[in-house]
Amino acid sequence: MSHYDIAIIGAGAAGLAAALNLKSSGRRVIVLEARDRIGGRAFTDTSTLGLPFDCGAHWLHAAAQNPFTKIADRLGARYNANTSWDDWTLYARGGAVPQQVIAEAGGYIEQVLGRIAEAGAAGRDVAYSDFMEEGNRWNPLLRQTVGQITSHDPADCSTLDSGRYEDEGGDFPLEDGFGALVARHAAGLDVTLSTPVIHIDWSGPDVKITTERGTLRATAIILAVPVNVLIAGLIGFSPALPAALTEAFHDCPMGVSEKLAILLDRPIEGTEHLHGDVVDLSGAARQPFNLYVNPFGRPLLVSHMAGAYGREMERLDDADVMAVALDALSEAFGASIRKRVVKTLRTHWASDPFTLGGYSHAKPGRAASRLMFSQTVGDKIVLAGEHCSIPFYSTVHGAHLSGIAAAEKALALT
Ligand SMILES: Cc1cc2nc3c(=O)[nH]c(=O)nc-3n(C[C@H](O)[C@H](O)[C@H](O)COP(=O)(O)OP(=O)(O)OC[C@H]3O[C@@H](n4cnc5c(N)ncnc54)[C@H](O)[C@@H]3O)c2cc1C
Repeated sequence: MSHYDIAIIGAGAAGLAAALNLKSSGRRVIVLEARDRIGGRAFTDTSTLGLPFDCGAHWLHAAAQNPFTKIADRLGARYNANTSWDDWTLYARGGAVPQQVIAEAGGYIEQVLGRIAEAGAAGRDVAYSDFMEEGNRWNPLLRQTVGQITSHDPADCSTLDSGRYEDEGGDFPLEDGFGALVARHAAGLDVTLSTPVIHIDWSGPDVKITTERGTLRATAIILAVPVNVLIAGLIGFSPALPAALTEAFHDCPMGVSEKLAILLDRPIEGTEHLHGDVVDLSGAARQPFNLYVNPFGRPLLVSHMAGAYGREMERLDDADVMAVALDALSEAFGASIRKRVVKTLRTHWASDPFTLGGYSHAKPGRAASRLMFSQTVGDKIVLAGEHCSIPFYSTVHGAHLSGIAAAEKALALT
């Protein structure tokens, strides 16, 4: 049975950053990854649509603070630094929505998000939904927006958790993909692929790791798998992880965040807007349909389906989801759009056994639980992953920085 100083479990942004930081440490390190590729939720698919499409992360959030902005500059990866959410619009039956209606919807969302931020800054740990006006006609759109940001519904999100989140310097999309950048940054790392870890025995002086392809030992491990994988118990532990930590995992779960990409025969004409939602102004309770239009001038429409709505859509088969999409798109751009669809791609992160969801957010009243993820367990197990970051949870750079911190802790143990 091979023995390593440090075993890193999971080769997403967190595990890769840990491995890169241990590269010249002189320690014997192994990276075990369940999939046949690296990157986890940062993955650029270049084959399905014939152009780069980020199935997961696409945006450099908090670009001024984001280490990947500098990594992109160093590696020559292009991004759009001029994107502004001000280009957001609403589409409805027949096309245009009066400007004052867009202002009313945007104003409500801004007001509620502002109150949520104020509560978080004041140290209040309550639900986002406490700040929604009952019966407001823009609540479905607000749920949609919150879903995209958090992958959860407003009732399931803590104001204090997001109050601790730092967000400076805009959101920049990467032209050739964030997944591609994460993979390029980790090029040359030795990762043992297609090796799911199924059991971790930390009862002895070192850690015994059982994978689907054999067993190994390590002095310390960096556990860099998604928190929902831990919640689902897909990796067994002997002895069980401390009950308080397991409870903390449950307090900071990942919701649902999926994408539907529709490749068209040519870009959408007549809209200079990059972001929008197709809404129903008739008062019917129809879910808004979110849109990212012509990214980088490409003939592509991307819809984000998140929170409870995303969960609902995950239950539908491809034909039913496309029926929903084409109804909304016909309303926004005319029925001829139906004939212009060339290919589609749909993600399934929530049912993927190596992810099982979107990204982490603390439940109302439970923001303190995230602080537990920085503790080392039994002088042997160090946690890493987006869920471990306080200022940048739910992001690639948060995962990356958590991996760097985990590498330092693991070094101290070996
Ligand atoms: C649809 C979507 C859009 C997003 N958009 C953005 C965005 O624009 N910007 C942004 O910054 N973030 C975004 N995110 C979030 C971002 O992708 C994640 O926060 C980040 O990639 C998480 O990195 P990680 O290393 O913590 O986890 P992961 O990337 O999930 O990596 C964990 C790794 O562990 C592996 N693993 C799981 N189980 C096992 C096992 N048993 N044994 C061995 N290996 C295992 C997995 O295969 C995976 O490779 C998005 C996420 C989604 C789903």
